[in-house]
This record gives sequence, C-alpha cells and structure tokens, in this order.
Amino acid sequence: MPPLAPAPITVALGDGIGPEIMEASLRILEAGGARLAPEFVEIGEAVWREGHSSGLAPGVWDSLRRTGVFYKAPVTTPQGGGVKSLNVTIRKTLGLYANVRPCVAYAPFVATRHPGMDLVIVRENEEDLYAGIEHRQTADVVQCLKLITRPGCERIARYAFEFARSQNRRKITCLTKDNIMKATDGLFRRVFEEVGADYPEIAQEHMIIDIGAARIADTPEAFDVVLAPNLYGDIVSDIAAQVAGSVGLAPSANIGERCAMFEAVHGSAPDLAGRDLANPSGLLLSGVLMLSHLDQGEAAARVRNAWLRTLEDGVRTADMGAGESASAPVGAKAFTQAVIDRLGETPRRLKPARVQSAPRVAAGNQTPAAAPQKETVGVDLFVEWRGDVGRLVSQLKALEHGPLELKMVTNRGVKVWPDGLPETFCVDHWRCRFMNGGAPISLREIADLSARAAEAGVEFIKMENLCTFDGEPGFSLGQGQ
Ligand code: NAD
Repeated sequence: MPPLAPAPITVALGDGIGPEIMEASLRILEAGGARLAPEFVEIGEAVWREGHSSGLAPGVWDSLRRTGVFYKAPVTTPQGGGVKSLNVTIRKTLGLYANVRPCVAYAPFVATRHPGMDLVIVRENEEDLYAGIEHRQTADVVQCLKLITRPGCERIARYAFEFARSQNRRKITCLTKDNIMKATDGLFRRVFEEVGADYPEIAQEHMIIDIGAARIADTPEAFDVVLAPNLYGDIVSDIAAQVAGSVGLAPSANIGERCAMFEAVHGSAPDLAGRDLANPSGLLLSGVLMLSHLDQGEAAARVRNAWLRTLEDGVRTADMGAGESASAPVGAKAFTQAVIDRLGETPRRLKPARVQSAPRVAAGNQTPAAAPQKETVGVDLFVEWRGDVGRLVSQLKALEHGPLELKMVTNRGVKVWPDGLPETFCVDHWRCRFMNGGAPISLREIADLSARAAEAGVEFIKMENLCTFDGEPGFSLGQGQ
C-alpha cells in the first residue's frame, strides 16, 4: 500500500514557552511516525498588539477551514480591556462543542495521592452560563442567562458515550444540579439518560455536582468518564487535573463537527520562556489525542508509550514532582531527546497505550424532536420598583383587564405576595406573574398588558411568556425551589 498522505494541520506557536514546546512536540510526533503537513499561523500577543482584538491573524480561519485541525500552543493574554478571549472566540466560531480532558496519575513515577486515577472529563463547551448573555436590569440587579438546549445536550451526551465506547471505558457519571435547576440541568440529565439507553454496555450514574466534585477530589479513582455542562465541567476539570498531580502534563481536545483543537491545559509560562525549562508533555499528549483524531492511532500509541517509558526511567523536567526512580531533572531539550530515544519501547509498569480510534459523532445524528404542543398561559412581567410590595401590587392590580389576573409577586425567587413574610429581604427587581387560571391566552393580550403597564408608568424591564408543552408547565412554579 502506498504511504498515506500527510494530514494537513494548522499550527500556532503561541507565546512564552509556546514555540519551544511546540517545536519539541512536533519533533517527537514526527519521529514517532506521525504524518503531518503543518500550516503555521500567527496568534497571540503580537497579533493583539497589531490591533486584532481576537488575537488571531486574518489567515487563521482560512487555514482552519482547509485543515479542520488546530494544534495550538498557549498564548499570553494581554492585561486590560478591549481584548477578547482567544479560546472562547475559537470555540464558539468553530462550534467546538466537546472539551475532553483526560486526567491520569502516573504513579509511582509522578508523585500523587491518587495512584489509581484515570478519568476523562467530557465538558459541554458552548452553552450554559458561557453564552455571555448578561444584562444589568435595575440599579441593583444584574442577570446572566443560562441557556441549555436539547440539541446541545444530545450532541455532548452522544459524544461522551461514543468516546467511552471507542476507548473501552465502562462508566459515565453525569454531574448536574437538577434538584435546583429543574428545567435547565433537568434537561441535561434527562437527555443523558435518553441517549444512554442506546449504550447498555456502559454503566451510567448521575450525581449532584457538589457531592460529585467533592468525590472527584477525594476518590478520583472511582470515576471513569465524567460528563458535565459547561460551568461545572470547567471547575471539575481543574480539580481533576490538580488532583492527578500533573497540571503541567494534562492535555485537552476541543471537538466540533468540522474542526478540532488540541492544546495543553497550562498557559504560556512567560517566566520560563527561553530557559530550556519548559515541559513539553501537556502539548505532546494533546498531539497524541490529535493523532488518534487523525486516524494515526499507531503513531499515537508509539509516542505515548515512549513518553511513559521516559517517565519510568526517571527522566523528568523540573516541574514534575520527583517520584520513584527519579534522577535530577533535565532540561527540556534533553527530555525531548529522551522520549525520541525510547520510540518503539513500551512501559513496563504503567498501562501501555493501545491503538484506539477516535469517536465519530456524525453531524445531525441527533434524535429528531417531535414538536410538542405549545400553549401560552401567562406572562411574568419583571418590574423595577423601590418600595413597599403593597403599593406595587395595587399598581399591578390596576393593569388587570380581560383574562389576565395578577397571580403572584416574587423577589429574587421568593414569594412576597400573596401571603409574603415581612422578614423577606427585597431588592428593586420584582417578578409579577399574570395568568388566566391556567387557560391559554393570546400574545395580543400580553402585548396589551405591557402597553397598559407603560401607560401607567410601571417600570417593566422584560417579560417572559409562560408556556406549557404537551400540558407540562415550562416554567418554575413560584417559590425559589
Ligand atoms: P501558566 O500555566 O502559564 O503557569 C502556571 C505555573 O506553571 C507557572 O509557575 C509556570 O512556570 C508553570 N508551568 C506552566 N506550564 C509549564 C510547563 N510546560 N513546564 C513547566 N512549568 C510550567 O499560568 P499563568 O501563569 O496563570 O498564565 C500565564 C499566561 O498564560 C497568561 O497570560 C494566561 O492568560 C495564559 N494562559 C493561556 C492559556 C492558553 O493559551 N490556553 C491557558 C492558560 C493561561
């Protein structure tokens, strides 16, 4: 068979230690048999300085469109305003919906309290509180919208199960706070269970995020694959990397339907730049994930095994805690050469890497949703008001007309009318619920209510329609639950 053509990839050298660790990683990957055709692009400090607020040179998107794979070294984020997060821009623009972070202990060769730890965090990467939709609504109140979508949940759950299947992993733990956020986190959990029905061979469990995070910190060896929405996933992936004892060794993959990005978890470590001290392992292991993604599983396994063998032989850079058999730390160049010298060898005690294919989650393979029967049954009018709830209620009662009746007023989710308690602390932000006794109302009636509110000088900020879906309320029922 003729040799396969090299895979085009987009490579950014980044800032600080970025160029050194990228050069080292590419050397090892290519010596390990990776077939790569890198296109180098500019990102980071210099590009920000030239006035590109994203930190990405203009040619980056064209290159990524051609290659579909981004191998990225860390960048130094400039301090001060006017600078957008480069990673958030890349993730959102390219639709990189899955953030995958393996957190593995390399005991006894890298010191850790959890020698049996070998887990992978699969974090939803685009939705949740990271949609960046925030508003200041009143003098005292700001809000951030938490958006969770069914297609977003289906895609990440499907990815997590396909990942577990392709890597022979046996269990997925889903983390949410669905006891409090019944609609948003509740959907994430429900979809996890629905998609999970297609993967009976994989054990499935759910934990509330607080106890789940505590257990990851305490007994990480009990976890295999962990699936979480964006914010919780962000937090637990740092906990897990820290507990593994090896933040500097941790790789990550950001996966989308058309593009994927591979980078180390750590930053650009400007303090180490140019001193032959930077450990290339995090970026190298991200490159190993990239090779699996490119269907170059043999090269991926060869490089990982040589790297494991290097650890076993006690060769380490200064940042790696000295474990069993460690000798004095070596410089980054010597470490790189030590890995290259061991290509073709396998570890004796650490678990050797096997040739694995990357999960394939095809575009548009989600369950087509049957459109539910939707009815609008009321509206929450959010009002700015400083003063007594009794006076607010009399103004709101004057707006009642036709089928819409004032049913309840809450402040920060706590019911203050009817039957409120004088002890409840109130701010200038009130949710005023109007309903038609549960029966449908028209959008015209909602528009008329807002027009009457405007005429009466009621300072409303926004309205949220209350809808039922197949008869089930699509809104929380009142009291902060
Ligand atoms: P950092 O990860 O760069 O450094 C934290 C500590 O770990 C430092 O002591 C550093 O010397 C050490 N360290 C990190 N990587 C190492 C390696 N490969 N080998 C040996 N030691 C290593 O975090 P920071 O100091 O908070 O951030 C520095 C810069 O990196 C900031 O501008 C930050 O915004 C940026 N950053 C970028 C990314 C990214 O591009 N993905 C991620 C995180 C931070």
